[in-house]
Amino acid sequence: KEITAEDIKKSVEDNDVRFLRLAFTDINGTLKAVEVPKSQLDKVLTNDIRFDGSSIDGFVRLEESDMVLYPDFSTWSVLPWTDNRGGKVGRLICSVHKTNGEPFAGDPRNNLKRVIGEMKELGFSEFDIGFEAEFHLFKLGEDGNWTTEFPDQASYFDMTSDDEGARCRREIVETLEDMGFEVEAAHHEVGDGQQEIDFKFDDALTTADRVQTFKMVVREVARKHGLFATFMAKPIEGQAGNGMHTNMSLFKDGKNAFYDKDGEFHLSKTALTFLNGILEHARAITAIGNPTVNSYKRLIPGFEAPVYISWASKNRSPLVRIPAANEVGTRLEMRSADPTANPYLLLAACLTAGLQGIKEGKMPMDPVTSNVFEMSEEERAEKGIKPLPSTLHNAIKAFKQDELIQRALGEHLTQSFIDSKELEWSQYTQSVSEWERNKYMNY
Ligand code: GLU
Ligand code: MG
Ligand code: MG
Repeated sequence: KEITAEDIKKSVEDNDVRFLRLAFTDINGTLKAVEVPKSQLDKVLTNDIRFDGSSIDGFVRLEESDMVLYPDFSTWSVLPWTDNRGGKVGRLICSVHKTNGEPFAGDPRNNLKRVIGEMKELGFSEFDIGFEAEFHLFKLGEDGNWTTEFPDQASYFDMTSDDEGARCRREIVETLEDMGFEVEAAHHEVGDGQQEIDFKFDDALTTADRVQTFKMVVREVARKHGLFATFMAKPIEGQAGNGMHTNMSLFKDGKNAFYDKDGEFHLSKTALTFLNGILEHARAITAIGNPTVNSYKRLIPGFEAPVYISWASKNRSPLVRIPAANEVGTRLEMRSADPTANPYLLLAACLTAGLQGIKEGKMPMDPVTSNVFEMSEEERAEKGIKPLPSTLHNAIKAFKQDELIQRALGEHLTQSFIDSKELEWSQYTQSVSEWERNKYMNY
């Protein structure tokens, strides 16, 4: 049922909410918030909370920096921890608008809504997403900062019942459940200290909102356990990195439009042409799904992360896998993105690429039946299998050459994204690392 302003007022009283946190997301996917005391509740509920957007990454030029927050009532949530005096904090996810009421084009969430609108015009009702965001837990140092010491030495699906990592993971799950998440699975991942918690798929906007909340909860609960959670793509060299597998399906008339009981792997023509759109724009999508310098240290052979643009039904080495599923669960699993991606931008890009694929109606390349890493270079070339970009620099280049994916972000976000990432790349190229000193000091 729809949540109204009255429902929120009642919830504020019932739960002793004393602060209201109004959250939105910047270009880099970082959750930002304006927090106001309860006395401002009426202003919150009538879209009357203003802020200066000029210092938010990717937002605005100075002359038009005043912004207004329009809370999405359906995202109302009472955070399950308290303020200093025992009161609670209520949280609303907001869209950012200009002072004249127009949605601000530099807000990634508004942009995803725009792209979802385009999808509806094509007759689809819902773009459903399930994210699998992996993360690492490290011990917190005495100074309150992260260390690279693991709280456990377990591995994939280990039953480590009593270490701090497992206790922390359980409390994360409980906290998420308190906040209304349906958690489907939680397990230790392959790497030391590495965890995965999956919550149920839902429409793209809801899932993008949820993954932002999820990351906040994971970080907060980890601290309570004396741990530090990171979603960095490759925190430790030589160990598994953190992926954010993106499971996608399209719904039409209440049915999964990707399912066809007679299709190969039970995939419909809609699914296959959508898949072709993803494969054709994969290099530019990588810039958005893998937006840090470090992201490309995960996209290497040997750690279940993809390197080549191909697909398969079972094999986990290609970019897209078709997990075994029933009708409603039929989906494409894109395995490239990592949890440092801005989920709103990522889903806008994937949906736009997929819809373009459907419009063009071209079938994808043949699925691979063996491990793409074990093929020779000639074999891959013969099959038309190209690599993903190998660095952030190459990914930005691919993004700048892909007009469709730029349109998926719109002009404002495209420019802020390029500016932000080119700056990051240039800082990186100027930095001198420990690896370089170890390698070259004696030259
Ligand atoms: N951690 C792997 C990655 O970097 C994924 C492991 C899995 O299949 O869940 O993508
Ligand atoms: Mg996993
Ligand atoms: Mg997966």
